[in-house]
Formats: sequence, structure tokens, C-alpha cells
Amino acid sequence: MSNNDIQRRDFLKKMGIGSIALGTGLGIPKVLAETDNGFLVENQSQYGETPVEVLSGKEFPYQINPDILKSMRNRMTVFSRNGWDPIRREEMQKIRDKQGGRSIFQINMIDGEGKVPNQTRLDYALMQASWATAHMDPFYDWETRSYSIKQLAQLGPWNPSDINLNWNDISVAVKHASLFYGASLAGIAKYNPLWVYDEYLHADEGTNKKVIPGTIKNVIALAFEEDYDGITNSPGRLASAATGDGYSRMAVTAHKLAEFIRALGYQAIPAGNGTALSIPIAIDAGLGELGRNGLLVTPKYGPRVRIAKVFTDMPLIPDPPIRFGVKEFCEACMICANDCPSGSISTEGQTWEGKSVSNNNGTKKWYIIPETCNDYNGFSCSNCKRNCPFNKPNNSWIHKLIRDNIKLKSKSLDKVMVKLDQAGGYGEESSSTEFWEKDGSASITSREAKA
Ligand code: SF4
Ligand code: SF4
Repeated sequence: MSNNDIQRRDFLKKMGIGSIALGTGLGIPKVLAETDNGFLVENQSQYGETPVEVLSGKEFPYQINPDILKSMRNRMTVFSRNGWDPIRREEMQKIRDKQGGRSIFQINMIDGEGKVPNQTRLDYALMQASWATAHMDPFYDWETRSYSIKQLAQLGPWNPSDINLNWNDISVAVKHASLFYGASLAGIAKYNPLWVYDEYLHADEGTNKKVIPGTIKNVIALAFEEDYDGITNSPGRLASAATGDGYSRMAVTAHKLAEFIRALGYQAIPAGNGTALSIPIAIDAGLGELGRNGLLVTPKYGPRVRIAKVFTDMPLIPDPPIRFGVKEFCEACMICANDCPSGSISTEGQTWEGKSVSNNNGTKKWYIIPETCNDYNGFSCSNCKRNCPFNKPNNSWIHKLIRDNIKLKSKSLDKVMVKLDQAGGYGEESSSTEFWEKDGSASITSREAKA
């Protein structure tokens, strides 16, 4: 038996890979080596060209301080504060005053007659329509409205042993269903109330009537790739089109997955940005690591993803978290921090606390300043996705270099890689004219394959 076979056998045993996974190849990576904390693996469909370390123990790719970390209040997020906090209202009024009382929309569409480069009426139309299903209430309902789903749910909680399967198999099947319904990546995390907004944990003191039931066991994290060419236009309007399209797909997919779970007789609570913090849930579910830019960085799409989640009492098997050198790379790379037009990204080392009341303190990380980010350019900026080296198409040379760097476990290469990455002009704003000159036939995932 070869060394590879032994590693693969150990990997399958320690990770509890189920029989569906064995049958379909879903979830079974090629094992490169056993490491101190788990296994170094490759899996093209899940991780793209990047090898990742799957952590088989209890370690996570972040540290928390339990004395500081508490459930965050939803009303303290910058989006909520924009509605009620007089400090935020004053700040936003100052921005409007600086713009002569004109909104960004009025500046671009009325004063600029819809002809401002990268902010044209064509660009605005794509953006506005891309948000079409993002905030539609029915998609994030906590209960089904469908008679046929109710009929199936009334049969009671389904047991996979009915068809000779087990919960490992069904965990793979639920991720398969997630991709079928439109997610780009899916993972399962054990439910951690620390990541849930405080208002959704207590019936008596919150501002919301809904409270996550004590029966919830797991969260399915869903990541949605955003259009590469759209994000490349940042801070042009097409970046917001890519963002809106991600939000719209999130809502539809999370809704369908919740209905699927309900039909099997289990609870399902879909959420977009609301209800809980998405990024730590996605990290716990093995979708990626946290970058200096404060975003989830995935091996396959870098930070160019949006995240939704579905809470459930279905007894699924959580996925292990992963590492692939993001923290080490970000220590050497300052690209997002140096290029952030609002100075919202830290150029310093990681800390336990941030500078804003909208930061959720208690995790050792790079804290961003959400207020200044929010206030920049009518909320159409994605520069810290556009110029991140991990954003590059899946099979680009930077991915190959990162891959070699990880294999060599060399940190000294990181700085060289950052310089090389910028040398070819990568990360600069593209014009929306370029976007519209393409026929769109190679969009999102199909483009990924051709890049
Ligand atoms: S979205 Fe733009 S303004 Fe906000 S942190 Fe990223 S680069 Fe800075
Ligand atoms: S741009 Fe560089 S520092 Fe910022 S998240 Fe990406 S790799 Fe990390």
C-alpha cells in the first residue's frame, strides 16, 4: 500500500466521509500530506487550484478571547445605526452637504446626464435590476408558505436509514442540494450562538419578535461567487451590480434550501446578512479564512463572494475548518489597506479590538472601520475584492505561486509575490465600456473554467 493510500484512508476515517461522498467523489479531496493539525489536500471543485490544510482537530483558523467576545447587537451594525444613530445621521448629512445637497444618484444621473464614465445609465440599470430579489421578504421567511412543503413536513422528521443512508451521506446531499439551487460553495458549521445577533437569542429583550429556537444544531453556510468583470469595475457602478446579483442569488437559493429541509421534516431558518454574522459561520464551515480586508477569503474565489446561511435542527455532520496561508500572506501584503479610498482597512498588526462601536471585539484579527467604508462613493466600492491577489481567476499564475508557496511553507516568498502580482497592472479599475463590449457568454463560473 502506498503512502498516499495510507493518508487517504486516515483522512476518510478522521473526517468521517460518508458513502454518498465515496460514490460520487463529492467532498473527497486528493490527500497530499498529513500535517500537525490535519491534512494538506487538493480538491479542484471545492478549492480550485489552491491546496488547503483541512484541520481535523478542534483548532480554528482564528483565536477568540472569551472575556471580550459577546454576541453582537444587530442594532450596532453600521447599516442599522444609519437608521437610528444621530452620530451616523450627522456624518451622512455632512457628506450630502459636501456634495451640495446632491445624492450620488443625482450627481451621476441628473447632473451628469447618465454619461459619467463607469456610472452611466446603462451601468445603473444593470445595478438596480441586479438587486431585484435581494430583499424580498418571502425568501427569508422562517416558516414555509407552501401547501406542498407543509404536506411533506407533516410526515415528520425523515430518517436517512429509510433508504440505507446515514447522516454523513445526508450532509453531503444537503451540500449537493445547495449547489444545485445555485450556491457556488457550501459547508456545514456547528451552531454557535456567539455569532447570532443578540436580539435573536432573547425573547424578552430584543427588538425582534423572532428568536432562534434552542433546538437548532447546525448552520449551512452558502457562498456565491460574484461576477469577476463586474467587481473589476470597482468603484464603478458595475461592482455594485455584481454585489446586488450576489445578494439576489443568496435570497433565492437560501429560500429553496430551507424549503428542501422543511420538506424533510426539519426546521430551517434562512438568512442573508441578517440574524447572525455570516463570516465567522462560513469560516467555521470550512469555506475559507478571514483576510486583512475583513472579508471571507475562499481558496477558489478569494474574497469575491457573498454569504448566506440556513440554520437547522437537522443532525448534519459539521465540516472541518481550513487554512491556506491567508493570514501569513496578508501580513506581508498591504494592497487592500494601501488602496482603500476611505482608509478603512488596517495597515497594522492584528488586534483584539477595533476602533468602531460597530466592530465585534474579541477575535484576534484586522478590524476595518465600517462607517468610513459605508460612506464611500454611494456604497458601490469593492476595491478590496478587486485588487486582492486571491481574487484572481482560479487557474491564474498567482494561484500557482500561492500553491507552491504553501507547499514550500515559505513566508519569504509572500512579499515577492505581492510585488509580482502588481507588476502586470492587476487590480486596477476596468472601464464599464470594456464590460459591455463582451458578450457575457463567459459569465461567472463558466468564465472561471476558461480563464
Ligand atoms: S469596500 Fe472600498 S471603501 Fe470599503 S473597505 Fe473595501 S476598499 Fe475600502
Ligand atoms: S489584498 Fe492582500 S492584505 Fe488584503 S486581503 Fe488580499 S491578500 Fe490580504
